[in-house]
Amino acid sequence: MDRDLNQHTHWAPPEGFHPVDSQVPGVIVYAPMPEQTDIDRAVSYACPNCGANTGYNVAAGGVACEYCGYVAPVNAERVGRSAQDFEFTLETLAQARQGWGTQRQVLHCDSCGADLSMPAGALTTACAFCASNQVNIISIPQETLRPRFLVPFKIPPEATVPRAKAWLGKGWYHPDALAGNTILRRFYGIYLPFWTFNTRVEAKWQAEVGYQKTERHYNAHQKRWETRTRTVWKWENGRVHLNIEDLLVSGSAPKHLSHRILNQLHPFHLGDLVTYTPDFLAGWQAQAYETTLTDAWEIGKRTIREKAKKACYERIQSNQVRNFSMSADFNDETWCYILLPVYLAAYRYEGQVYQVMINGQTGAVAGNKPVAWWKIWLAIAAILAPGALLVLIGLLLTLLGGVGIIAITFGIILFVIGVIISFSLYQHARKSEAQ
Ligand SMILES: [Zn+2]
Ligand SMILES: [Zn+2]
Repeated sequence: MDRDLNQHTHWAPPEGFHPVDSQVPGVIVYAPMPEQTDIDRAVSYACPNCGANTGYNVAAGGVACEYCGYVAPVNAERVGRSAQDFEFTLETLAQARQGWGTQRQVLHCDSCGADLSMPAGALTTACAFCASNQVNIISIPQETLRPRFLVPFKIPPEATVPRAKAWLGKGWYHPDALAGNTILRRFYGIYLPFWTFNTRVEAKWQAEVGYQKTERHYNAHQKRWETRTRTVWKWENGRVHLNIEDLLVSGSAPKHLSHRILNQLHPFHLGDLVTYTPDFLAGWQAQAYETTLTDAWEIGKRTIREKAKKACYERIQSNQVRNFSMSADFNDETWCYILLPVYLAAYRYEGQVYQVMINGQTGAVAGNKPVAWWKIWLAIAAILAPGALLVLIGLLLTLLGGVGIIAITFGIILFVIGVIISFSLYQHARKSEAQ
């Protein structure tokens, strides 16, 4: 191995090639250099009229100065669902551009560990993920791939707090203070990283499928013919073809951002995808992906296998299935790295951090809210009381020599229904608090 390495050190790569990460120890891999274009030059966002900082303005649909009203339109091509994607080859990865294409700084949160990309010169005092103010600007090299496409923000920042307040006020079992005005002060507009995958899947399955068979048999003991049903098991197999288009996998690590809440923001309409230009990010935060392409594809494949399994089960003519097995072949896999617009806010209530997110394209709100548990227990008591009372009356009637059995029966039925409702209410409340 060492001898191999020595040999390579005397060899220079052809012009336009550079060494890239190698999967095999001791072997150096060269790939074509990334294309250099003018977008790689740092873009300045000082207003040409007055010199103030400009930023992308949702209503104006361009980079605007809030002091003198100067607006420059953004030159981005709307590509929608025909956005180009890339094969899984070393070449496409090595040729992809890196960084954001403009001067940006990294905001590091000491509390939750998240790294956020901020416009150069932006002042921020709190982390969008956890509301902590233990943040500091650090400079780390931009070594992540550059996004190729993004969906621009459509919901203006002014619309976020009223939407969130309406959402916070919903539901009766939350603390009354929640709908007040001190909890949510501001949302951070942030472009979040997503990988999209396209692939064709061919799944082969086999399973034992159970069918009900009714047969007549002679009961010798009772000396008569009877019918009985039994399950007959048959081995069956088949193939299912699936076309997976635009499967979204989050590039944010779940430790900083609740994926359960993020999933509730879907769908995003990818018909609005435009080519990436740093103009859209001027004045806005962004997050570079933390989940790499390889890891995201593993997550994507798990989701696709689940979809394929469901499709196989749909082909089976019976609900009784055992020994199911499936093998899935993936063909023509392609990927793309995009950004989607989300508003984030975190608030603290009694020491606990809660996240609220708004889909920056559709305005959908999702998040978690604290639960006033005394309200839940009171409600459960009220739901169980009628059944319990009826049983008690029934017992009393029986003791006094009356006919209490009807009251007892109805009481038990009411009580069981009450238990079912209470349990679902309890689960609902637990979910609301869950991260
Ligand atoms: Zn200006
Ligand atoms: Zn944080």
